[in-house]
Amino acid sequence: MNPKPAMTGSLTLTLIMGFLCNAFSTFGAEEDDVIKIRLSYKIILSQRNHTRPHLNTPDGKELRDDMIREVVEEMNAIMASYWRGYRFELNEIREIGSLNGFYPDPSHWFDVDFIQQDKKNKLLRQMEAAIQAYPKHYAWREDAVNIYINQATSGAKRKVRDLIVIGADLVSTAWVQLHELGHYFDLRHTQGDLGVAVPGRSGEGYTVPGDDDVEDTIKDLPGWSRDEIAKHNFSIAYEKLEAQQKELVDDVAENIMSYHFLEPVGAGLHRLTEGQLDRWTDTTLDFYRQKVRDGRTWFVDHRSFCNEGTSAHPFEAVNLAVEAANNNGGDIILLRPGEYDETVTISKPVTLRATRKGLATIGIPFTLTEMSIQ
Ligand SMILES: [Zn+2]
Repeated sequence: MNPKPAMTGSLTLTLIMGFLCNAFSTFGAEEDDVIKIRLSYKIILSQRNHTRPHLNTPDGKELRDDMIREVVEEMNAIMASYWRGYRFELNEIREIGSLNGFYPDPSHWFDVDFIQQDKKNKLLRQMEAAIQAYPKHYAWREDAVNIYINQATSGAKRKVRDLIVIGADLVSTAWVQLHELGHYFDLRHTQGDLGVAVPGRSGEGYTVPGDDDVEDTIKDLPGWSRDEIAKHNFSIAYEKLEAQQKELVDDVAENIMSYHFLEPVGAGLHRLTEGQLDRWTDTTLDFYRQKVRDGRTWFVDHRSFCNEGTSAHPFEAVNLAVEAANNNGGDIILLRPGEYDETVTISKPVTLRATRKGLATIGIPFTLTEMSIQ
């Protein structure tokens, strides 16, 4: 993974943010300037000898806790590159299952490939039913995203009841887990909700792009090259595009929610667009998902006429967001680009951020005329 470097627009406010955090440390509230999403990993043990899954490497080594810790760090490095202030917190790693291995025992799922053996999600729904009946056996948590690792799954899946299942071989692949977490926060594939479209596999390929319900992602299909994405959206080859248009192509070609890890693009996936991050953020307000994170984001957009503080209906003024933010800290105020001509007094711990789209300034704009000495 090679996350995009930070952009200057966000840097400016991050400096202010750091200042605010120091300034308010005396309040004794939470000092951290990020919103944490709690992750609970469950390792399904073998029903034969009660061991952890093994990786498909020549030495066949056992899945270790530090592999999970490292992948969470890697995901956080990608999250940091988005400048939205969201991070994952590894809450726990639990072993589940027993030597019994009969349904509904968690070890029953040790050898199941939820990708190849379960195309219609029948088994996953059975597992969900077992979790609902025996939440303790499955170490199910309402206040964290539940990620189950088994031996045989040849990929990762999130389909029912916000249940994520991954195979041991993908435990160290950050973008795959981020992809599933993207689904958890209601992101769709960049090709729309067309299901798994693998090029060359008859009956499963798609020729018409779907819609992912995000404004700033252009039309996409898994089998397309950068040139084909460019031609479909802009009618010319990738190399002939303006820099900004190339960026739009790359935004889907390297998107976490795409299938472009496959040829012909074969990209390292690390991008999420501002529109996708907006959707992610609004989904954290949902009844179930609000339990898995601390803090929330309040959106401000000076062009807004609505006042809910969501991405779709942002506040029009910074002061409204400051008033709405939690008095005990932990919230983020996200300013969309523009000049906010208001005097803001902040007397609670809160973090201010700008987006990667551009600068946001608070107060009367500073001009050269004011600087000139007569
Ligand atoms: Zn997916």
